Amino acid sequence: MWRPHAPATGPTRSIAPSPVRGGALHGIPIALKDNMVARGLTTTAGSRILEGYQSPYDATVVERLEGAGAIIVGTTRCDEFAMGSSTENCAHGPAHNPWDVTRTPGGSSGGAAAAVAAGLVPLALGSDTGGSIRQPASLCGVVGVKPTYGRVSRYGLMAFASSLDQIGPMARTTREAAQVLEVISGHDPRDSTSARQPVPRFTESLTGDVKHLKIGVPRHLMTADVDPEVQDAFDAALAVARSLGAEVCDIELPHAAHGIAVYYLIATAEASANLARYDGVRYGRRADDATTLADMYERSRHDGFGAEVKRRIMLGTYVLSAGYYDAYYLKAQRVRTLIARDYTRALESVDVIALPTSPGAAFSLGERVDNPLQMYLADVFTVGANLSGLPGVSVPCGFTDSGLPIGLQFIARAWEEATMLRVADAYETATPWRERAPVLTP
Ligand code: GLN
Repeated sequence: MWRPHAPATGPTRSIAPSPVRGGALHGIPIALKDNMVARGLTTTAGSRILEGYQSPYDATVVERLEGAGAIIVGTTRCDEFAMGSSTENCAHGPAHNPWDVTRTPGGSSGGAAAAVAAGLVPLALGSDTGGSIRQPASLCGVVGVKPTYGRVSRYGLMAFASSLDQIGPMARTTREAAQVLEVISGHDPRDSTSARQPVPRFTESLTGDVKHLKIGVPRHLMTADVDPEVQDAFDAALAVARSLGAEVCDIELPHAAHGIAVYYLIATAEASANLARYDGVRYGRRADDATTLADMYERSRHDGFGAEVKRRIMLGTYVLSAGYYDAYYLKAQRVRTLIARDYTRALESVDVIALPTSPGAAFSLGERVDNPLQMYLADVFTVGANLSGLPGVSVPCGFTDSGLPIGLQFIARAWEEATMLRVADAYETATPWRERAPVLTP
């Protein structure tokens, strides 16, 4: 049996026109991933354990968006606590890909990507811990930006893996994503990892000029697992970049192939600590037929968390436990440093790194649910930016023969989103991909 806590009382969020006139986003509707809080909205992180949860406060990104005149219209589906790549780990059911509703929109910010791709909203915010903005953007044919770690406040974002999580925009175009990034970026004293970096006018850097800009390609990472259609689209995109005057060269990221192993140790370790707060006492729902406190914790967590979240809590607790800490967690931290160093060194000789966002286009719903390892391995190109704290963007770069979008990723130096967005925008405006929209049939 479940008993909901009394919802927090606060003003109901209004979707009337914003009173902030002249703001950069005046009157523009925007959707949130269901793991960032706004007063008057229910935020569940796709979990039964937070069923009916209403926050008594606004996330900093919500304050900033509304301060710029935007209208928060609602929340979008995501994998439970952002753990997943397909939204199939959402307790309320998955989101569907508007290009083919039998397929996943990707995840974990799949609902946000699907909503933008389907034209339900022009803009959405997602969160990216290991690719959760960029991969769904890629699978839905929209633009998704993972900013530098510390660029955007995480205050009001339900924590998954705190050293990796970043909030970022999803939009139809790089320019629109840049506009939102400008609004939500900047120091916030309520997030101790938020940086005091000045926020450039990202939109002003979108000049279309990429002459002599150096793009590094870690070809050694592109193994047989990359779908040939994705590989072809990627190679064709590099040819476009060259035709715009950019220089393309091969680079080496010697430790990057260990990214998946490192990510799934560190992310689960942090998740096991972060999710300890969901104990049936302070948030969401509580099992009320328990006889002791320990029984109440156990039942609330047993019934409240889904299978993937439980798997990760157990894995994370295991790698942090005495006797295994050194062998797994500590070692993963060391390899994380090596991976971050590889990216930083490579970015001393090139301006951006290019990779496919995902090794394949959208897969069918249900296809990978019984194979978590296969699901994890598809994060191979995205986890590097999180492990090294660097900014990454996914921009549409073509379609498969069956009409599914393919994404191209650029990763830049820390705090150089402006350069990264300049390349993405130059590529996007030189190609026709954004003109296609999914046909929505009932
Ligand atoms: N797919 C990755 C995971 O399941 C990334 C998730 C994310 O970025 N939130 O952990």
